[in-house]
Amino acid sequence: MTKEVANPTRTKELLKKYGFSFKKSLGQNFLTDLNILRNIVEVAQLNDQTNVIEVGPGMGSLTEFLAREANQVLAFEIDQRLMEVLAETMEPYPNVTVVNEDVLKADLEKITSEVFENPELPIKVVANLPYYVTTPIMMHFLEASLEIDEMVVMMQKEVADRITAGPGTKAYGSLSVAVQYFMEAETAFIVPKTAFVPQPNVDSAILHLTKRETPAVEVNNEDKFFALVRASFQQRRKTLWNNLISYFGKDEATKTRLETALAACEIDPKRRGETLSLQEFADLTNYLYPNSN
Ligand code: SAM
Repeated sequence: MTKEVANPTRTKELLKKYGFSFKKSLGQNFLTDLNILRNIVEVAQLNDQTNVIEVGPGMGSLTEFLAREANQVLAFEIDQRLMEVLAETMEPYPNVTVVNEDVLKADLEKITSEVFENPELPIKVVANLPYYVTTPIMMHFLEASLEIDEMVVMMQKEVADRITAGPGTKAYGSLSVAVQYFMEAETAFIVPKTAFVPQPNVDSAILHLTKRETPAVEVNNEDKFFALVRASFQQRRKTLWNNLISYFGKDEATKTRLETALAACEIDPKRRGETLSLQEFADLTNYLYPNSN
């Protein structure tokens, strides 16, 4: 029987056969630890009634584990050189479709509707993400109109900490708010550097994100909410007040409007943005923008 792609001996053989050299600029750190792969798939709880989107299949180490459990797997891989490797490694898995495209440029709605034969099935994103674009990829999926129920994604531990952080912590920021607004986020487990070739400089974490039935807080206007959150974190050392007047304007009428809103929401303007909860950001947005436009 052919060994799994992630088996270190097979990985080495494939690298040699195709003369593959890793590109650091594409975040290429391939998993060669079968236990970690089993654990990822277990967290993802796949079955033949689940479709999966994977970002960056590499040589297919995670992809084959996904293919064995899921209905179909759609994998986006930016690196053209990996296409011939994947053609070999994915040959036993007819339910895998590899698209040679930058996932950030991909029209997810269009491609999924073309590839998934049962588009009514829930979609999960399962991936060992390229670290240099983790945040844009997360935002790309959150902002897509595609219905994504769950994400099980590997990233630098430091980024996972930022996503799961709560108010008042150093790691809490606009990324925490953006993700937690849509999804419940928890770290499933930590992955040591030694699980990869080549080894990255830092440890990684598997983040498990589950879509909320409704967003964590009720806001009249999501765009205004996210803009207010970004403004509040603009300069972390500044008070909330200073960040807000930099964003809204320093004229007297604006200052009065902001003072009134903060007082009504019982938020001390001297606090720093990083101490505000999602609910407080929502209260402030809804006070400042009572209508949805
Ligand atoms: N899944 C494989 C594994 O676990 O061994 C490889 C993971 S590696 C961390 C990230 C993969 O993402 C690489 O294969 C890289 O070429 C690919 N990649 C990088 N940027 C990408 C992008 N914008 N769109 C799609 N794939 C990308």
